[in-house]
Amino acid sequence: VEPALDVSELSVEFPSRRGTLLAIDQVSMAIAPGEILGVVGESGAGKSITGLAVLGLLEHPGRIAGGAIHVGGRRVDTLTEKELTKVRGKEMGAIFQDPLTALNPLFTVGKQLIETIRLHTGMTKVNAEARAVELLQDVGIPAPEERLRQYPHQFSGGMRQRVVIALALAAGPRLIIADEPTTALDVSIQAQITALLRKLCDETGVGIMLVTHDMGVIAETADRVCVMYSGRVVESGPVADVIHNPQHPYTAGLMRAIPSLHDRVETLTQIDGSMPRLNARPSGCAFHPRCPQAGPKCVAENPPLVSTSTASAACWLQQGGTQ
Ligand code: SF4
Ligand code: MG
Repeated sequence: VEPALDVSELSVEFPSRRGTLLAIDQVSMAIAPGEILGVVGESGAGKSITGLAVLGLLEHPGRIAGGAIHVGGRRVDTLTEKELTKVRGKEMGAIFQDPLTALNPLFTVGKQLIETIRLHTGMTKVNAEARAVELLQDVGIPAPEERLRQYPHQFSGGMRQRVVIALALAAGPRLIIADEPTTALDVSIQAQITALLRKLCDETGVGIMLVTHDMGVIAETADRVCVMYSGRVVESGPVADVIHNPQHPYTAGLMRAIPSLHDRVETLTQIDGSMPRLNARPSGCAFHPRCPQAGPKCVAENPPLVSTSTASAACWLQQGGTQ
């Protein structure tokens, strides 16, 4: 079976008058069908840019500078804009923080769902409507026949995000990119939405890239996790291994910083300092100015990502020491 997503040594750069900024530096990750990969890190780690690069939605002047992206075995980073638009709708779904950005306020939820279904499946109107009802049921929206006739503003935040999830699933995609899908929602709703993503992933076999700054969400929802720092993957592996036995000091810091239920600030006070700016990425291991275990080697050389017994980590501590 082809992986839902295979990102191989992806680099993304942003040219500017003062030079080219390397936003993503040779990032690799894969997602199997029916698997949730959590991509975690503080704001500025490059998680969202990775997701946007996969969707082919990098903001100008950002561009892919190296590597390859395959979705369901098909290479997508070399497609023309026209081909990509087609593949994006059919093979990839997207869920962002604010459900309103994905919904048109002027049309009923039913019209938007039915049009998306018809565009990508060629179903008749009658069949598409039946499918839309089914999708609303699948995402846990009660009284779906009535709800189809309503407009986005008639839904609560949580119900609206469920509609967006239904839209993301409408074409039967292989991959869904979910970027902070619960961050804007009421705390009481957040766990319901992540549980829904888990259920849909198990039932439909779609692969999900779950982008979040919250290690707690990863712990509850994901199968594997990929920790990013300053545009690089610093640790990846099965969630249970990474959580119980983090190899990279940054991952260990994220674990200590699992936010309380009421804290939505995307910074980690438990790790001193902050994510470096792209135009000021520190030499060697980019985490070294904040790392309690940094040594001279960390300042001089960037550690490669290598396999440990349970996961992969990019840290000199696992590779012969920091001296
Ligand atoms: Fe810390 Fe050095 Fe490991 Fe980087 S390589 S995380 S600075 S110990
Ligand atoms: Mg982001």
